[in-house]
Amino acid sequence: MELTFLGAASEVGRSCVLLSGEDKIMFDCGLKIHTEEPYPLQPPANPDFAIMSHAHLDHSGFFPSLFKSGSPEVISTPPTAALSEIIIEDSMRLMDRRGEHPYNQSHNKRLKQSTTLLSFKKWYEIGESTVTLYSAGHIPGASMVDVETGGKRFVYSGDFKGEPTKTTFPSEYPPENPDVLMIESTYSDRDHPKRKDLEIEFARQLDETLGQGGTVLLPAFAIGRTQELMRIVRSVNKDVDIYVDGMGWRVSETLSHFSSYINEFKKFRHDMDSCTPIMRKSDRGKVMRKPCVIIATAGMLQGGPALSYLLQLGPESKAICTGYCVEDTNGHNLINKNYVEYDGVKIKPKASWSYLDFSAHAGRKELFELVEHLSPKKVFCMHGDSCQKFADELQLEGFDAVAPKLGETFEV
Ligand SMILES: [Zn+2]
Ligand SMILES: [Zn+2]
Repeated sequence: MELTFLGAASEVGRSCVLLSGEDKIMFDCGLKIHTEEPYPLQPPANPDFAIMSHAHLDHSGFFPSLFKSGSPEVISTPPTAALSEIIIEDSMRLMDRRGEHPYNQSHNKRLKQSTTLLSFKKWYEIGESTVTLYSAGHIPGASMVDVETGGKRFVYSGDFKGEPTKTTFPSEYPPENPDVLMIESTYSDRDHPKRKDLEIEFARQLDETLGQGGTVLLPAFAIGRTQELMRIVRSVNKDVDIYVDGMGWRVSETLSHFSSYINEFKKFRHDMDSCTPIMRKSDRGKVMRKPCVIIATAGMLQGGPALSYLLQLGPESKAICTGYCVEDTNGHNLINKNYVEYDGVKIKPKASWSYLDFSAHAGRKELFELVEHLSPKKVFCMHGDSCQKFADELQLEGFDAVAPKLGETFEV
């Protein structure tokens, strides 16, 4: 069998791997929007089936394109299927603005018709293979994928997080000793601060800013982070007005139908009901008239209401970034160079800003723990900026580990 890395090879974005054996199986098919090369490489063959590990754009955004010349069966958890519809619609709008149309509504419709919903820990037989999904933490519905095919077992970690958060369950480990592990490497170079400490610091910054009459802006990914921030803010401040602007509200409403995939669901529902959605652009000005909290997309400040609020807020206000920001995005530039770009102009916001590492990804320790626990025969380190270093370190521990290059094929 052959494993070809069509994306997320020493980069974060456009995750896509093709396993070619008796069955042709694709793991994820995502986009890397806002870059010169947003698409995964063309697969050498159409997949028979494709597994969507979770709904984030970099894993789900290019799935409709598979229906341009093929008709694979797509497998995902129910929340992932529902959330990816929202993400794909949004990415079609973004691509349209770039003047690109890598797929159209009819491909998108066929994707919906071809999706099989699979819940965690259920065996699913397809072709000559079996697929099992395990909870990956990370965001609601995210899965680690376990595939048995051609007498071998492959584990694809997707994005995962070992420890639970206020909205996600801890990740589960698939059975030990797979032949191949494909593992994300996003934070292979560092551990995250303790969540309890982060929440204390978050509460301090929130109180300080509200106390001086400012507004706290929380740029947030629509899926996962928006819902978690609703819970975190409400857990440290019972009274402040929380507004939710952008795609995060629609995602929250969608997720509220999947109670079994959300940790502490009743508390989530309660906290969500205490927030106010912003439905019209014209309401944004009214919101900022008195101190409040605004949770707004996009998480990396690449446009959306988050960027528009940031540019309007005064020096008494603060933006707290809490998620991973890809290089050259506004979020990354704000954190590292103190500016954002709007209409091609570099602007230093009047509001102050900070970064608190509330990551939805496994830290270094959890990544090593997964590899050691599973003890695979071969490890492929992908989805990260330090994949080669991670592979080198795993080799020193005795694992057969490599960091694949884009387009590279391996006999497995
Ligand atoms: Zn993700
Ligand atoms: Zn990812």
